[in-house]
Amino acid sequence: MLVLVINSGSSSLKYQVRDVAAGSVLLEGLIEKIGMGNGGGGDGEIEGPRDHAEALEMVSTAIHDELGELELGAVGHRVVHGGERFAEPVLIDNEITRAIERLNPLAPLHNPANVLGIRAISKKWPDLPQVAVFDTAFHRTLPEHAWRYAVPEELYTNHGIRRYGFHGTSHEYVTRQAADLLDVPLGEFDGVIAHLGNGASVTAIRAGQSVDTSMGFTPLEGLVMGTRSGDLDPSILVFLGRAGWTPEDLDTLLNRESGLKGLAGNNDMRSVVEAAEAGEARAAAALAVTSYRLAKYVGAYHVAVGGAKALVFTAGIGENSHQFRSLVADRLGALGVVLDAGLNARRSKEPRVISTPESALPVLVIPTDEERAIAEATAAVVSSAAAE
Ligand code: ADP
Repeated sequence: MLVLVINSGSSSLKYQVRDVAAGSVLLEGLIEKIGMGNGGGGDGEIEGPRDHAEALEMVSTAIHDELGELELGAVGHRVVHGGERFAEPVLIDNEITRAIERLNPLAPLHNPANVLGIRAISKKWPDLPQVAVFDTAFHRTLPEHAWRYAVPEELYTNHGIRRYGFHGTSHEYVTRQAADLLDVPLGEFDGVIAHLGNGASVTAIRAGQSVDTSMGFTPLEGLVMGTRSGDLDPSILVFLGRAGWTPEDLDTLLNRESGLKGLAGNNDMRSVVEAAEAGEARAAAALAVTSYRLAKYVGAYHVAVGGAKALVFTAGIGENSHQFRSLVADRLGALGVVLDAGLNARRSKEPRVISTPESALPVLVIPTDEERAIAEATAAVVSSAAAE
């Protein structure tokens, strides 16, 4: 089945056309500046599409120009927030679209864009099945002691304030791949998965299921990220609020100006590692804070899963930065983790083990592929709906 995978943001739309059976990507692209057309048509300025419907026309033209008259079997959407309702991918109809829309307050930047993408496709290709694949779904197995915050019940019942967790599609995909690589049945896999990209989160996997994860009510909690602070004392916000910072100021501070950027002045791990190697003290300090935070979570999740039998690194930093992996592993001596320096330094696109045989638990690098996971889930939902 050919699946069009759509990841719509508020002003961008990423897409891939995938052949699910062959596991191949036939076409991919990114449309930016949606709704930001300059209006004047000035010199050399690229004008973005007016809205998501116009962006979709551009996708449709690209498919036609590059691939000719091929028959799409379905569209798979990455939807950021599935709230408490969605524990797995679903076939989209009007009721599902409205349910995603009702979750807008929980993901004000993302879910509205997903809904625009879904509606634009229903209008253009009304007969094409669409599937929503939720970033939160894999974490629906969290036990209450892991998802509940220690605040009055009313915040949960009236405002939905609890841990949801994100990056679920990646954590689930990587968990499966890790169990495969270690030749352990998925239902017997206990481990810790560290997804380290611009956004970063770590998940505790027990018997193949998510039992705790570092992102919370929003993707801000947990690890130190490219521009997000991760964990801090919430009183800092109260303190700054009293000093006159508005909610918007705080949002910008913690989501866009913090993390590696706030600590080292640069949100790109490559540059921070280079600066530290060149002797820049604040870059070295940023790496120490970032690697320590992750190591602390690995220790906590080792407990959460009843003894991790694997530690897995994935996403941009996890797959590529042997320096960062080694900084984290150096802090995990108490767990008996020992990296093989040669295997760690080797560059590869393949799932692999980078620890020594003596390491108390194997350390793995598994490349993630969210689009592939979305395409496969979409094809599976559409095929099983057709069989009913
Ligand atoms: P996103 O969350 O946007 O998908 P990615 O998974 O692409 O992010 O990860 C981006 C991060 O990966 C950046 O911090 C970048 O510096 C880091 N990264 C990418 N390639 C390398 C590399 N070769 N060495 C070190 N870090 C890398």
